Parts: sequence; C-alpha cells; structure tokens
Amino acid sequence: MHVRFWGTRGSIATPGPGTLRFGGNTSCVEVTTNSGACFILDCGTGARQLGAALMARKPPLCATILLSHTHWDHIQGFPFFAPLFIPGNRIAVCGPEGSGKSLREVLSGQMEFAYFPVEIDQLPASISFKELGEGTHEFEGARVIAQYLHHPAMTLGYRIEADGAALVYLCDHEPFSETLWHDDAESARGDSIAHEGDRRHARFMDHADLVIHDAQYTPEEFPSKKNWGHSTYEYAVGMAAAAGVRQLALTHHDPFHDDAFVAEIERRARAYADGLGYEVEVRCAFEGLEVAIAPRGHRASAATSPTSNDERASPPGARILVVDDDPDIRALARRALSQDGHTVQEACSGPEALAAIAARLPDLLVLDLLMPEQGGLEVLEILRRGPATAELPVVLLTAMDDEAHTRAGFGLGATDYVTKPFSIPQLAARVRACLSRNPGPKRLE
Ligand SMILES: [Zn+2]
Ligand SMILES: [Zn+2]
Repeated sequence: MHVRFWGTRGSIATPGPGTLRFGGNTSCVEVTTNSGACFILDCGTGARQLGAALMARKPPLCATILLSHTHWDHIQGFPFFAPLFIPGNRIAVCGPEGSGKSLREVLSGQMEFAYFPVEIDQLPASISFKELGEGTHEFEGARVIAQYLHHPAMTLGYRIEADGAALVYLCDHEPFSETLWHDDAESARGDSIAHEGDRRHARFMDHADLVIHDAQYTPEEFPSKKNWGHSTYEYAVGMAAAAGVRQLALTHHDPFHDDAFVAEIERRARAYADGLGYEVEVRCAFEGLEVAIAPRGHRASAATSPTSNDERASPPGARILVVDDDPDIRALARRALSQDGHTVQEACSGPEALAAIAARLPDLLVLDLLMPEQGGLEVLEILRRGPATAELPVVLLTAMDDEAHTRAGFGLGATDYVTKPFSIPQLAARVRACLSRNPGPKRLE
C-alpha cells in the first residue's frame, strides 16, 4: 500500500510563506494498493493537484473517493478534480449518510450556477454515489471499514485493509471525553480508556500500520475550542499507543499554525509518546509526504462488525424521549432532534419518564444525569432491570465529565455519555450514531 498526502490543512486553505513546509491545501490523501486500486480520502483543495497527477497516468482512471464528511475543507477540491472532466473515467464517491441531503445533492450544491460554472450533471466522467453507514464494505479488492467519529456533523473514519496492511484515516474528530483515562490506569492501554466512545475509537485503530489523525489543537488551545470537533496531539498519540499503532501522521493543521508552530507540535507529540513509553514513528503530515506501507501479515480488524450495515442505516424519524428538569436543555435537545427528522417527547423528571416509557416505548432515551428526586442513574438502573427496556438505547446527558461518573454511567449500561454544553449538530450526530448501532427494542404494536 502506498500513501501520499496532497492536503494537510484543516478548516480553510492557508497558502503563503508561513505554510510552505507543511502545506496550505485542505484534506486530501491518496492511497494506492499493490493491485492498483486508487482511494482518495477526502477532496479538499489538495485534490486539484492530485487530479493533475492522475491525469498524467494512462487512462481510463478508476478511483474511489471516501469522504469523511461534507464540510467545505473536505469537498472544495471536488469541482477542480480534473479526472471528472474526462469521459471514460469511473469515479465512485462515497460518504456518510444522514447529513439531511443526499451526498449527490450536497456536492451538486457547491457546483450550482451561483458558485461554479459547470454543474455536476455536465461532468463527462461516469460518477456514482454511495452513502455509507458504519460497517465493512468491499471496494476494488480492499476491505474498507467505516466508523462514526465525534464531530458536529455525521462524519466517518475509514480503515482500509489491503496487501496485508491496514491504514486508518480519522479526520475530523474530537475526544468523546476530556477525561481520557481511568484514575487507576497504569499506562495507555485500551482498557484504561474512560469513555466507551474513545475506547471504540482506539479499537478501530487496532494495530494499524499507519494512522492519519486529526490533531488541530494544542492541549492549551483545546478548552476554548471544545465542541468544534477536533483533537489534540496528546489524544491522537494516547489513542494510537493504546491501540499499538506502528506509525502516526498528525494532520488537519490549524490555519493559525505556521510551519514553526506545526514543527513544535511534532516535537511535543514525539516527547509525549516517549513519556508514555510508546515506540512509534510520529510526525506531522506535510504535502508531498509519501509512506510505503510494507505488509506485516496483518490480521483483520475486529474493530467493527464484519458485515456492512448499510441496510440497517439509522431510521429517519425515530421516537425519542428527552428527560431533563431544565426546560432550556429540553428545548435545545428538541430542536436538535426534530431538525434531524425525529419525533421528540419530553419529560421533566425520572418518574414522569418511567410513566411515559411504560405507556409507549420510545426508540431512544436522552436522559439527564442530575435531576431532583430521581437521578438519571437511578432511572437507568430501573430500565436495565425491565425486559422491555433492557436494550433501550440511552444517551446520558451530563455536566459531570469526571472519571467516576463516566465509569458509573457506562457501568449501568448507558449507550452513550454526552457532556453539556453540547451543540445542536453534535447531539444530532451522536443520537444518529447510537440509533444506527442500536436498532432498539422490538415493539409489540
Ligand atoms: Zn475539516
Ligand atoms: Zn468538519
């Protein structure tokens, strides 16, 4: 497997004398397997130069574009990707479902007449669109596993397994919890990770040969950027260490970070890995960086269920019960979830929630942790004892991001644990990921 970086910048293209070394183009990575299959991870502005390089090769081109999500910095190179203008080329465009519009509609949107002179239907290449959910997919002889990331949009990470090697692309992603490790953790190990979401994230990287990970912020910057959907180098290194990753490339560099700043991040990331006692090649990715991944008899990942779950993609219009004593939080959650096509019912206390669930079982429960008279953990405990509600997906909503509460929530069977304050797109994405993984209890109605 051969990897080449064409865009390493996050958020917006940042050309200029300060970014010559690490590059100013936004996310785009080319992956070529030994059998010649071509994958393109994201289509940021770096895709323009990649397109030019591919045009120099013998036609026709057959390529699979895997979009993490459709924020601008991951799609703006698409209209400038020259192979789309050549008849006979076959380009498959894949990306997460559930952003409100189809993938084709979103990409067409940025090519409407007001923004771009050529509409998507006028492109001469043969272009197909495929919306992906979590699960395993086969493309051109390679195994591609997709898993949702934590970002204020439906966003997929990809694990490509081919030629006895595994590459994992995780961009854009924010830690699920600020408390990364259990208090009694001895070292950076998978079972030392406090939040189930972060543990799943580490499992997805399991013994990968190369992980490409979002590391937009420093630990000092992160607190003021929380909920923006990005990671620090400490998180990326910690997760990679827990997963036994061989090489780590940090990417999605912040537009405010010039070359000297990114080089300092690289130095600090290496020192952090050393401090964990973790032997890994860590670097900050730059435009033009090439990595040849030699096979090491890689075992297939157990990261995600081995079958594609396209067919059980998250149902639009789930019935969701939001339980919180704070009317503002209920209103925010209602807005987030009804915008996403769900039907929302509210309850302002534990007893009211249990009565509502007994009357009609919802598809998912959003449950506040701290409420007067009966807290969320008590309600969760009661639900898990009942046969009808033992499997009901429950998203705990809490301001308590400490290790003890996180551990208690998951210990009692919470499906996810979301920290306040949260943003509308963030809650919508978390609930949608939960619904796609947990189809919910069977209703007898
Ligand atoms: Zn981005
Ligand atoms: Zn994004």
